[in-house]
Amino acid sequence: MSYALPHIERITPYPVTEAPLHRSIKLDQNESPYPPSNQVIQLLAATSEQIMRRYPDAAASTLRNTIAAHYGITSDRIVIGNGSSELITALFRTFVDRERSAVMPYPTFALYQVAAEAANAMIQFVPTREDFSVDIETLLHTNASVIALVNPNAPTGRLLSRDEIETIVQRAPGLVCIDEAYMDFAGEDYSAIPLTQKYDNLVVLRTFSKAYALSGARIGYAIGSPAIIQAFEKTKTIYNVSSISLALANQAMQDQPLIRNIVAAVCATRDRFVTALTDIGFHVVPSRTNFVLCTPPSAPGCPDAQQLVQLLAANGIAIRYFNVPRLQDKVRISIGTDEQMESLIDLLRNGYLGV
Ligand SMILES: *Cc1c(COP(=O)(O)O)cnc(C)c1O
Repeated sequence: MSYALPHIERITPYPVTEAPLHRSIKLDQNESPYPPSNQVIQLLAATSEQIMRRYPDAAASTLRNTIAAHYGITSDRIVIGNGSSELITALFRTFVDRERSAVMPYPTFALYQVAAEAANAMIQFVPTREDFSVDIETLLHTNASVIALVNPNAPTGRLLSRDEIETIVQRAPGLVCIDEAYMDFAGEDYSAIPLTQKYDNLVVLRTFSKAYALSGARIGYAIGSPAIIQAFEKTKTIYNVSSISLALANQAMQDQPLIRNIVAAVCATRDRFVTALTDIGFHVVPSRTNFVLCTPPSAPGCPDAQQLVQLLAANGIAIRYFNVPRLQDKVRISIGTDEQMESLIDLLRNGYLGV
């Protein structure tokens, strides 16, 4: 007997990946293969007992001011989350219930469904087309109170243009939430952040977990109208981000040249990796992110997607398999360093072409 409420009992938990102890190459969680700047690392080393004894700044003012300056907006349009995951959770608690439903394209980041169910909030999914492009008309015709989109999408890597996003925001009957966890890789020209100044039914989520190399520090943020941000402030946890993480994120945000270098390196590696994968016979979904979704060749004797994940794991390389409709014949591979991707390609060449 768990004593949990019925809607909690019904939840299928978000699949957590195993601790990577014995794995030398980790390409399963879209983390940065490169470290943050020396200044971030020094700040971490300089952490004092004093900092730990005091509560963090509940308003996260320093970090909010830095982010505000970066985007040329005011800080009352920003709320900081314990990772953007906390803000995804808060989204459902704040704007969605049994009557006011949310809609998302399918497939997408699995945490959304778990977060909706935990909040006892209604969520529906509109299938993407065969090539995983988003069916905007069908999405709008659901008349859902909240349209949520991951752009570029995970785990497909597909990207919508800013014009397409603007069309959705203009025609949506309610709130639109764009999760831009991977936007650093696609480029700011695609970001909906400038649109938040023009439309008060738009909120954008960003994270320090991917290009900024701070997954373990747990910091994300939302940008939207002051009214939307105030609503998030009410439902997020108080003191949700530690003093250390706030300071690390604040420093990381100042290191824009390094971020640009990391992004350029990852995207160049990705493009080379996609060429090599395609040569081996993989079908690769076009990606504007730091990962690729791909289908292994299905020649007789070739390992299928699930077998491939196990084979690579046995060789010390972790990649991701999703045992859900439309993804069962595919794997998602994060982009690491050139060296890491070459090790993977060598193994694949042996597995698929060597025999
Ligand atoms: C990685 C990721 C996030 C970031 O989560 P954090 O809680 O900020 O680490 C958010 N949305 C999507 C789609 C992601 O893939």
